[in-house]
Amino acid sequence: MLEVDDIHTYYGESLALQGLNFSVNEGETVCLLGRNGAGKSTTLKSIMGLTPPRYGRITFDGHSIAGTPAHRIARLGIGYVPEDRRIFPGLTVRENLEVAEYRRPGEPQAWTIERIFDEYTMLAELAHQDGATLSGGQQQMLTVARSLMIQPRLLLLDEPNEGLAPVIVQQIGRLIDELGRNTTIVFTDQSVHFALRHAQRAFILEKGKVVHEASSETLRNDPETQDRYLSVA
Ligand code: ATP
Repeated sequence: MLEVDDIHTYYGESLALQGLNFSVNEGETVCLLGRNGAGKSTTLKSIMGLTPPRYGRITFDGHSIAGTPAHRIARLGIGYVPEDRRIFPGLTVRENLEVAEYRRPGEPQAWTIERIFDEYTMLAELAHQDGATLSGGQQQMLTVARSLMIQPRLLLLDEPNEGLAPVIVQQIGRLIDELGRNTTIVFTDQSVHFALRHAQRAFILEKGKVVHEASSETLRNDPETQDRYLSVA
């Protein structure tokens, strides 16, 4: 469903991704792991067209998308949850969802505001509250829900647990498991334990490249690789 092929992404003249490759099959949940600065966020932003790669190819569902503007990539069916959540202040929870609503012509609208409120009653209870006044965990639920309003076939979640209390992290884990039943997901996380629990496969990044790929089960039982690429000591 998604193929990232030899992408090179720059910030100005500084090279952040240097020939990064990975692919994701329809229906999979995969995680990108790596130390700070390895290039996880830049990879998601490159797929989304926010930091378009200068070289390389990205194919989603048969469409070549490297160089396509972000709003068109979203309309092809890629939902993106940025690390900093970007709730629209001054808009209520309902309005934050309404502004994102999109239905691809000729396809049924799987996610409506009513369905979001039915399934995530916590958001229904907050429907009329200003999005900016929500707690970190509530904002993260809202950002994920907002990304569903474009009817994504692929969801990109950038560090969904960043700054959240352990009890909320558990809820986010359940949400990833639930959404992963019908949607392909790529997420990044700092916690190897969390990532391997909720993803089927993992890609480890270092210095802007994928340096290791394994099933979660294999990586869980491979402390040497974890130490080599992921320990912070
Ligand atoms: P973290 O977990 O710290 O977010 P990451 O693996 O997501 O790390 P990126 O944020 O993608 O890594 O960063 C990859 C490289 O690009 C790093 O060297 C980083 O310093 C650089 N970088 C990231 N954002 C910018 C920016 N806005 N301008 C310049 N360089 C940047």
